[in-house]
Amino acid sequence: MNRRKFLQWGALTAPLLSFKSPGFFQKPIVVSTWDSGMPVNAEAWKVLTNNGKSLDAVEAGARFIENEINCCVGLGGYPDRDGIVTLDACIMDENANCGAVAAIERIKHPVSVARMVMEKTPHVLLAGAGAQQFALENGFTLEPQTLSKEAENAYEQWLKKSEYKPVINIENKKENGPFAPPFFEDGSANHDTMGLLAIDATGNMSGAVTTSGMAFKLHGRVGDSPIIGAGLFVDNTIGAATSSGVGEEVIRICGTHLVVEYMRNGYSPEMACKKACERIIQHDREKAKQIQVGFLAINKKGEYGAYSIQKGFVFSVKSNKENRIVPAKYFFG
Ligand code: ASP
Repeated sequence: MNRRKFLQWGALTAPLLSFKSPGFFQKPIVVSTWDSGMPVNAEAWKVLTNNGKSLDAVEAGARFIENEINCCVGLGGYPDRDGIVTLDACIMDENANCGAVAAIERIKHPVSVARMVMEKTPHVLLAGAGAQQFALENGFTLEPQTLSKEAENAYEQWLKKSEYKPVINIENKKENGPFAPPFFEDGSANHDTMGLLAIDATGNMSGAVTTSGMAFKLHGRVGDSPIIGAGLFVDNTIGAATSSGVGEEVIRICGTHLVVEYMRNGYSPEMACKKACERIIQHDREKAKQIQVGFLAINKKGEYGAYSIQKGFVFSVKSNKENRIVPAKYFFG
């Protein structure tokens, strides 16, 4: 087969590779990472059902969880190894406008600072002290540098060994070790990164991510979450994706950009997420068995899907027809 014929064949077969995802053709819709996405979706839904924009919806959802003081997102999150909470967030709209903040300290709503970076500056990403300065100059308040009770307990535990081993928990193991998320009394886990993707009534798509990042990380470490194309990517003509898990592995493959490109080539959201996980596994299968990465995606039709390396990744969906937590398929159980 010559190259030209091969390319034609590729174009013809691409739609056949579009497997049916568990979602329906629907808008408005919001999907978000983890079971903690349920109340987050509810907040975003208020905006979406009020004829609001998807951008406002994802920001509202992210702000909701940033307010939760005993959560792994926002100022209630786990600190780095120096005992300081540093936050990462980003936001992206239907016109490829995007903004992000990385390693910002003592600011309650990093997602809104990210939006301000997008709307008020010619830049995409502000980091560290500069991001904080920008936030303060734009009306945000400097919060006290304290740890939530959960975070303080976990940090004290971690300090006993001070082992620098930044492994992201694998949820199904439910070990309450230093790298496991805090578990509530009812046994549910209070998970890390919140990534949300929404389509509004007009069909426009946006996404946002907010996190305190990997627990006990090196001071200044930044993961995938605020990196456009790694932790979040939106292409309004195709779809959007977000991720959670070991950020370094997601950055290495430009994870969410890759997921969206797979969807562009005809894959369903679930298959696109699966193929991105596969890419990580191909790098180092043995290493991949030790870590968790999950991708969540939605396409232009409102079909959604997710896939993770390990068992345990779940996501939340809210639309006119659905309001539920969905377990993602996975490679290693
Ligand atoms: N992806 C985040 C990071 O690497 C962590 C997470 O998803 O929990 O910072």
